[in-house]
Amino acid sequence: MTSEPQPAAPASSGTPLVSLRDVNKHFGDLHVLRNINLDVARGEVVVVIGPSGSGKSTLCRAINRLETIDDGEITIDGKVLPAEGKALTKLRADVGMVFQSFNLFAHKSILENVTLGPVKVRGMKGGEAKELAMSLLKRVGVDNQAQKLPAQLSGGQQQRVAIARALAMKPKVMLFDEPTSALDPEMINEVLDAMVALAREGMTMIVVTHEMGFARRAADRVIFMADGQIMEQATPEEFFTNPQSERAKDFLGKIL
Ligand code: ADP
Ligand code: MG
Repeated sequence: MTSEPQPAAPASSGTPLVSLRDVNKHFGDLHVLRNINLDVARGEVVVVIGPSGSGKSTLCRAINRLETIDDGEITIDGKVLPAEGKALTKLRADVGMVFQSFNLFAHKSILENVTLGPVKVRGMKGGEAKELAMSLLKRVGVDNQAQKLPAQLSGGQQQRVAIARALAMKPKVMLFDEPTSALDPEMINEVLDAMVALAREGMTMIVVTHEMGFARRAADRVIFMADGQIMEQATPEEFFTNPQSERAKDFLGKIL
């Protein structure tokens, strides 16, 4: 990793790792994020749920600037997310992202998929990147697949590789956008188990999922979004047993 001068005031452990202040986003006339305020503490696991179209993916994409925002501010570990350039690449590397579709490089081996980012973005040496990649692949239980191409793996295995690939960048926070919704049912748990393990190791996580079992096992907080707004937030226990809004009650009635 390159060592650059650090700002005078390093983020203390009390600073939220991810912070959104009055964030708004429109797609044309559609107001998809409405005045979002959200602080995620170091080590916290936040599950985001809500109906389709409520802005969950846009929220995730805004946090690592795959989407621009119209106004408001997003900070990662106390640093404002820059609009572009090297500073953005650097800060974005602190935010790991796992999508519904695994997005692995089809023509590269599993090992190369995981070493590429650390070498290109973090400037890690090849040998070190390989060692790191193998340890991460082992952690998610696919180290024996390292020489294969993505298409030779099951969906559940590919998604675990995607998690290892994101972790290889040594992110400060991991975002998951419906990581199991494209998987066959028998593969969902192997991915959720890897995520639960990560949560227990203290990773800060924002997870969009409708897997209530995961929320109950791993979430510190559940956020319910509807129409681009955070409508409710509570512990999983509180939220699932005693949702406050009609929207949340209605939604839970449909998925539980
Ligand atoms: P969710 O992930 O909760 O289903 P999204 O964040 O994907 O919701 O989408 C929120 C709303 O924004 C939806 O109405 C969706 O159709 C719209 N939307 C998402 N991406 C775009 C885009 N690139 N251009 C226009 N509209 C979009
Ligand atoms: Mg979505």
